[in-house]
Amino acid sequence: MSRKAPAGSEALAEAIAGGDRRALAQGITLVESTRAEDRPRADALLETLLPRAGKSIRIGISGAPGVGKSTFIQTFGLHVIGQGHRLAVLAVDPSSRIGGGSILGDKTRMAELAADQRAFIRPSPAGQTLGGVARRSREALLLCEAAGHDVVLVETVGVGQSETAVADMTDMFLLLLQPGGGDELQGIKRGIVELADLLLVNKSDGDMLEAAGRTAADYQHALRLLRPATAGWQPEVLRCSALTGDGIPEVWKKVEAFRKSVGPKAIAERRARQARAWLKAELADSLMEVLAREPDIARRLPALEARVAAGTATPGAAARALLAGFLAGKTGN
Ligand code: GDP
Repeated sequence: MSRKAPAGSEALAEAIAGGDRRALAQGITLVESTRAEDRPRADALLETLLPRAGKSIRIGISGAPGVGKSTFIQTFGLHVIGQGHRLAVLAVDPSSRIGGGSILGDKTRMAELAADQRAFIRPSPAGQTLGGVARRSREALLLCEAAGHDVVLVETVGVGQSETAVADMTDMFLLLLQPGGGDELQGIKRGIVELADLLLVNKSDGDMLEAAGRTAADYQHALRLLRPATAGWQPEVLRCSALTGDGIPEVWKKVEAFRKSVGPKAIAERRARQARAWLKAELADSLMEVLAREPDIARRLPALEARVAAGTATPGAAARALLAGFLAGKTGN
């Protein structure tokens, strides 16, 4: 595309590409902005930086509140940067807006990691919906890659849909568990285990060591009954302690083994599939935004909503009626 970049976005792109963490934070704020007038600059920034993106391993990570995600990310993250990598941590947490408070862990547990120049940590964008949050996080991920972060962690919490959104933007999905009962007691939904490429029983230390062994064995058994999430990779269960660091280097070794075993071709194909789905989601969201701005739709919507709620019209018929009115207006009929 040959459209001229709006003023300012080129300097920002250069600073981001140079690894300036403040510029990266600024760039992410720009792509997260919900103000329509920011969009051209955000798009120009993404377009300039896109050729530099894509060179990381994208890792999704989830688990119920309290399982130790924040602690794990700090310990694991410090290990990963110790191996010569540059790490970025993003979060997808639609609850932060909807529920008024984030259910993602305590970011102070990542203070040491956050202070390190080789790491970049970004809390969840305050989007209205999961779709909105996920959209902006995908773009943030590209900016992190363009800034030279070659390992990107995308964290979410174990409540269902957000895991699917995160699995749809990453190469590999890790699920954190803790010693103790089955899925329900762990506070995770059945389907989430099916998304996982690696299950980690955290808190495998002290008094919980034995229980962790049992939990790991239970899940190892359960995995045999599931179809692997990624072709060419058999999911496994590992034990670790984010507190003591035991087992953490092994987690990183597994990530590397995953990458090697699945291979660059399959990862590229997965990303291509994700990008196509992303395009469709963007299109649907953009159309919704256009429709929401349309006075005629806004005027007719409440009555149609009431009829749908009362069961006197089907949602399908109501949607088609609204759309037909909109399209007729556009073509002047
Ligand atoms: P999150 O809500 O999933 O982000 O969990 P946090 O990282 O905030 O941890 C919740 C609690 O579990 C805190 O009190 C942590 O200190 C504790 N915790 C985290 N990891 C471990 C671990 O490996 N072993 C033990 N014993 N406690 C842990």
